[in-house]
Amino acid sequence: MTTPASEPNPLVSIEFPVPFDRVRAAHVEPAIAGLLGTARARLQAIAAEPGPRTFENTMRALDALTEPLDYAMGVVRHLESVATYPELRAAFNAVQPAVSAFYTGIPLDSGLWRSIQAFAATPEAAALAGERRRFLHKTVEAFRRQGANLDAEGKRKLEAIDVELTTLTTKFSENVLDSTNAFELVIADERQLAGLPPSARDAARESAARKGRQGWRFTLHAPDYFALMTYLDDAAIRRQVYQAHSVRATSGAWDNRPLAGRILELRAQKARLLGFADFADFALEDRMAHTGARALAFLEDLKVKTEARFHQENRQLLDFRRSLEGSAAPALEAWDVAYYAEKQRAALYAFDEEALRPYFPLASVVAGMFELVEHLYGIHVSERSGVPVWDPQVHYYDVHDQDGAFLGGFYADWYPRENKRGGAWMEALITGGPVADGFQPHAGVICGNLTPPLGGRPALLTHREAETIFHEFGHLLHHLLSRVEMHGFAGTNVAWDFVELPSQIMENWCWERASLDLFARHWETGAPIPEELFQKMKRARTFRAASAQMRQLGFGYVDLLLHTRYRPEVDGDPVTYARRVLEPFMPAPLPPDHAVIAAFTHLFASPMGYGAGYYSYKWAEVLDADAFTRFRDGGIFSRDIGGQFRAAILSRGDSEDPAVLYRQFMGRDPDPRALLERSGLA
Ligand SMILES: [Zn+2]
Repeated sequence: MTTPASEPNPLVSIEFPVPFDRVRAAHVEPAIAGLLGTARARLQAIAAEPGPRTFENTMRALDALTEPLDYAMGVVRHLESVATYPELRAAFNAVQPAVSAFYTGIPLDSGLWRSIQAFAATPEAAALAGERRRFLHKTVEAFRRQGANLDAEGKRKLEAIDVELTTLTTKFSENVLDSTNAFELVIADERQLAGLPPSARDAARESAARKGRQGWRFTLHAPDYFALMTYLDDAAIRRQVYQAHSVRATSGAWDNRPLAGRILELRAQKARLLGFADFADFALEDRMAHTGARALAFLEDLKVKTEARFHQENRQLLDFRRSLEGSAAPALEAWDVAYYAEKQRAALYAFDEEALRPYFPLASVVAGMFELVEHLYGIHVSERSGVPVWDPQVHYYDVHDQDGAFLGGFYADWYPRENKRGGAWMEALITGGPVADGFQPHAGVICGNLTPPLGGRPALLTHREAETIFHEFGHLLHHLLSRVEMHGFAGTNVAWDFVELPSQIMENWCWERASLDLFARHWETGAPIPEELFQKMKRARTFRAASAQMRQLGFGYVDLLLHTRYRPEVDGDPVTYARRVLEPFMPAPLPPDHAVIAAFTHLFASPMGYGAGYYSYKWAEVLDADAFTRFRDGGIFSRDIGGQFRAAILSRGDSEDPAVLYRQFMGRDPDPRALLERSGLA
């Protein structure tokens, strides 16, 4: 496929709305090659600047360095995720190595680093305040953290560590996938499927048929595994599958145990090379927690507040089992917990998630959510047709402020397709900045893989899917409402343990009667959710919440301890060590060969990954539950509180320390009490 010479390449300049109808695979390589050349030239121009160092010719030039490249790569990456085809994937893969090498090389460019240090030594730099001061400070810190201060020998060492980490973590994730795929269980006797719901049986039937087999086939992938653990009556089969799952990637060619040990060693070496005590301190310096010790203390506090309820829940679960099977029924094993918990949940709440679906037609969820943010933030969302999109299913919206100012636009793409990747996400496409007469508009996308319209009905969502829409829209607001000067500080470019606050807080409006009544309406009758169903839904939310919380805390502990205190010469192999750490957080004893970290891809499937960052899940929950109490207590439609949230959080990006922003909104530091209350644990 060639491009007519007369047609300009739509990727080489930032256009709004994005000309999605004109972007072809053939545009990718020439556009990126040209933009990379421009970015390299800009980088050299900063370093070669003949005049005196100023904020404009050094820091702002650095901030703008990759802007057109970011945009083009963003558009291509986005199309590759939502409307891919072989030529586009090939073009994307072809440009990626050079692009990522360019980005990682920026902090290691000695000319650029000297320029930044030269500017930092000027009186102008010393007199900087606010956002610009922070930008200089954070740039210097980031360069240092990425090795800018190392001598040639140090840079060589760092590169060798990074190369080995990339190789090992890639192999780690391949081993998890291969050893997961190596297991299958084919059941020939239908009686052994007792307990399993029809959807899981049908899936297993199809899975067997695809392999040319009779019967029902189960793998260790999440849907099969969780269905068996939750529903299958046959305890021996549950045990067999549980054990296969818990020893994945621990034998033969797929043994991840030595890899995990070596990855930990390399991360520790890297941290020390860059001047940090351990990998956790290195990874967290720029996050809200700042140090491994503080993140550990955070987990410890929640653990202490959760433990009593956790033990109580486990006693109640055993009592429940004995109420079914007699007082001689044995203690619960690891492969029994989900199974009896599901039976207990059904007995306590008689609540079927499916009963909520008719109340969540997608169009009304979305319309109600727009109405909600109009109340809270005074912004107006309106659909605009005729804007180029990548698929007819996609909708485009304009967002205006209460004074009529155009804030930006976004695309929403909610249904699964074969040419689209799984999951739900928000992505920034264009990041505006201040201009003489105001602010340039931002643009972003929100995507999901939600239940599509079926059998002449509109798309009817689960409650969880409605929450997903609110969640991604929260990320989008963080982007669209951003009002910061420096590009690198805009929108969601914030600390990892802060970025989920704007998204997760939105989910709270999916649990309040008054806001649900805005958007949760029966698709045929328009009736709100019946009170009885609403109450069941609320009660079921806190079922075994302490156990769920302990599990997450346990993974957080394993992660942080491995990246701080673990010493192989004293603690032995990391797999055994991790099992010992995890044990007290689990509702039943772990089998002696249980090897959670051999398949813990969050921690080991990429050089950085969630390494020393798993605690962030709980950290963000504490923030969102706590921040929402202001709305809960002061009015869930309050424009006043909404305005404060917008001013302190949504508009500020990373232009100020997130702890300061949080304090601006709450008047104090985060308090975990609201999360404990919301989970029924306080
Ligand atoms: Zn999120």
